[in-house]
Amino acid sequence: MKKITVIGTGYVGLVTGACLAEVGNQVTCLDIDTEKIETLNSGNLPFYEPGLKELVHRVVKAKRLQFTDKYQEAIPGCDICFFALPTPLNEDESSDLSYVFLAAKQLAETMDNYLVVVNKSTVPVGTTEKIRQAIQESLEERGFTIAFDIVSNPEFLREGTAVSDSMKPDRILLGTDSTKALRAMKELYASFSESSDQILVMDIASSELAKYAANAMLASRISFMNNLAGLCEKLGANIKDVRQAIGADKRIGKNYLDPGIGFGGSCLPKDVRALRSMAKKLGHPFCMYDSILEINKRQQKIFFEKILHYFGNLEGKTLAFWGLSFKPDTDDLREAPSLYLIQKCLEHGALLRLFDPIAMPKAKLLLNHLENIHFAKDEYEAAEGTDAIVLVTEWKQFQFADFEKIGVAVHNKVLFDGRNQYCDQEMAALGFDYFSVGRKKVSEMAMT
Ligand code: NAD
Repeated sequence: MKKITVIGTGYVGLVTGACLAEVGNQVTCLDIDTEKIETLNSGNLPFYEPGLKELVHRVVKAKRLQFTDKYQEAIPGCDICFFALPTPLNEDESSDLSYVFLAAKQLAETMDNYLVVVNKSTVPVGTTEKIRQAIQESLEERGFTIAFDIVSNPEFLREGTAVSDSMKPDRILLGTDSTKALRAMKELYASFSESSDQILVMDIASSELAKYAANAMLASRISFMNNLAGLCEKLGANIKDVRQAIGADKRIGKNYLDPGIGFGGSCLPKDVRALRSMAKKLGHPFCMYDSILEINKRQQKIFFEKILHYFGNLEGKTLAFWGLSFKPDTDDLREAPSLYLIQKCLEHGALLRLFDPIAMPKAKLLLNHLENIHFAKDEYEAAEGTDAIVLVTEWKQFQFADFEKIGVAVHNKVLFDGRNQYCDQEMAALGFDYFSVGRKKVSEMAMT
């Protein structure tokens, strides 16, 4: 059993802390956001993640997880300290590392024994070394000599499946120059790795870069497919069939080949931009990063234009939006494609009826000030009297919606499917004018 502190209790920090407590460690999750800590201490979660609430309740009840907003309560005596701090982008696309360095200073002001400092935040190559320097300098300012080691341990969890991703990770990256820290980390992660092959040990720079490389690779697959979907529409091919054909190749694989309205969230867009910025600064630019981002942006625009083109003019048209979060099973709205579509539709005079199974409270906070928006209680109410339904996020409950019922509630049977969730023939049979991504309309298909 180790005594662990996780600095930053957001999506990564809270999941990490709860999972480490689940396997028997004594964990303190620390955050400077007092409101967040109060929410957690009152038994609630500041965000939605499947299975997390039950896990947190269990480990809090077992007295293995606690929350605080005070460094003085969380740092002294701990063995391992994780950084799970935000690393947003500055205007020039460089990473804003102020949260990380402030935490390093606050840590150094309160630490009183040897500890392993583990960085889980996604940071440009060289940052973990700079964290070491920042801690060292602060310790010297205090006149203290306390030994510590640093480890880069980038996080690969996906929102929506974060708990299972953390409990059963594909791989665990450990970048360090300390055998002592490595031993401690291998011991800590033993319960999470089925075999020792899953723990990949490397130098700090490689570990930091690997995180960006993984996200850029995933983003490139999505943008590749989105671009190909556009080509399918022009050539009369079906992206679903093309996807199946290429995904069957074991060298390519099936995952991350779904066309749609582009990727969002707090990681993929940010990390591709940060990688591009890092590469440019080093005189090693790569036009592929530009293309990934450009295609992603264009994909949302093309989808909006599909809607606009259908109506000619959106003035006074009522649209139902199904799904607002950047992907299903999360309430995270950061860089969600829904936000762009909402903005464009409102600019063109549309009235919107919005529904998301989980993200409504966050959406209300973000969008309440806007006019011509109605927040619906479910997908059926959202569809009432509308000129079209726009499927933005592929939540499971939308997949099984009762379209007979919906067909009666809507003003016009029109469906824009931004995630290719539905069978085009079934939608046509239900009498819907159905538009998706990279597929011809059923009425345009040649029949024999
Ligand atoms: P988040 O914004 O949800 O949480 C970060 C938390 O840190 C916030 O609660 C904030 O109040 C707190 N914080 C800021 N400064 C602090 C300080 N000085 N001391 C204590 N707490 C402080 O962020 P996140 O989504 O958990 O991401 C954290 C890092 O992990 C980022 O670098 C991100 O790129 C990376 N990452 C995120 C995901 C994801 O799916 N969200 C996945 C992999 C990696």
